[in-house]
Amino acid sequence: MRLDFKKIYLQQAINEDLFWRTRATDIIARFPEAEVVPVKSHWQIDELAGADPATWMQTKRDVLVLGIKSGLTHTLNGRSANYIAASSSNGCLSACQYCYVARRKGGANPLTIFINIEEVAGSIRRHQRKLGAKLAPDGCDARFWTYDIGCNADLSLDAMVCDNPGYLVREFATMEYAKATFATKTVNDDYWTQFEPRERTRIRYSVMPNKLARYVDIGTSPISERIASVNKLVEAGYEVHLNFSPVIIYGEGDEWREDWKELWREIDDTLTAKAKAQMQCELFFLTHSQALHDINMQWNPKGETYLWQPEIQVAKKSAPDLLVYEYEMRRGELARFERELAAHLPYCAVRYSF
Ligand code: SF4
Repeated sequence: MRLDFKKIYLQQAINEDLFWRTRATDIIARFPEAEVVPVKSHWQIDELAGADPATWMQTKRDVLVLGIKSGLTHTLNGRSANYIAASSSNGCLSACQYCYVARRKGGANPLTIFINIEEVAGSIRRHQRKLGAKLAPDGCDARFWTYDIGCNADLSLDAMVCDNPGYLVREFATMEYAKATFATKTVNDDYWTQFEPRERTRIRYSVMPNKLARYVDIGTSPISERIASVNKLVEAGYEVHLNFSPVIIYGEGDEWREDWKELWREIDDTLTAKAKAQMQCELFFLTHSQALHDINMQWNPKGETYLWQPEIQVAKKSAPDLLVYEYEMRRGELARFERELAAHLPYCAVRYSF
């Protein structure tokens, strides 16, 4: 992906610290044509919050925000990871149509990089020390406390802008009780294979049927490249799992189920014995919303023909602004999906599903 930011919003407080200023200056120097606009806060940028959704993709390409992460808290999760770590970035250069990060950010979702990465990493290190050793395995990991370090972004893309992701991999490699984990849809093997993660970083490649990804996973790496990358990253010392997500129901009859089976056959044909031996997965069905649907209709209506199925989508009980597949139907489909997955990839345990 070629990056060519035209405008960089710079949180003014970055200039107050020598390390932060140096990191920011290094990033800015890579985009000499970009106008640098000082801002008080990385959140309060009216121009972005009120951006016209029709300019969604343009804003992603043109704008970068450099900010300082405040509120270094690590939130208890227990699903993809034990904790959602304080983030090192948010927003994303990709534009998946179902992205929940976009749901939270309003009219534009450009990449925001947090410059104070040493504070983020130091805070995780202290947190896991306070927890001490994990005494019993759980669904997140058998030995270590897992921290999701990429919940609001795609770190493989962040790595094209800054070294925050590598900084975290190096830090986790020396932590006593913790393991990093993050989901990605971008292949960036040259970057990740520079480090020695010592199996203390779990990368989760999100995959879905090729046919569907073309319309809803905008700006991401082809599915086949993601699958092939699993082998390389396992060889490099990462734990690599798969996310079968979001599972989207589309087409006539069994069409979507048949597409998943084709994907599983490709995975089985591609993975090495070593990659299979450490493989686990997560899977979950689509969550959508009226607000995101309205935005998507302005820039990629084709994708919405897959996501928008009002006849089978209902308000989520715990968050009525969101839409999920009708509960009873989803329960049945989830059980069937897991059965069929087990038949195709018997070595791939499901760590977590909904
Ligand atoms: S890669 Fe992840 S963070 Fe980026 S747009 Fe897609 S779902 Fe959102």
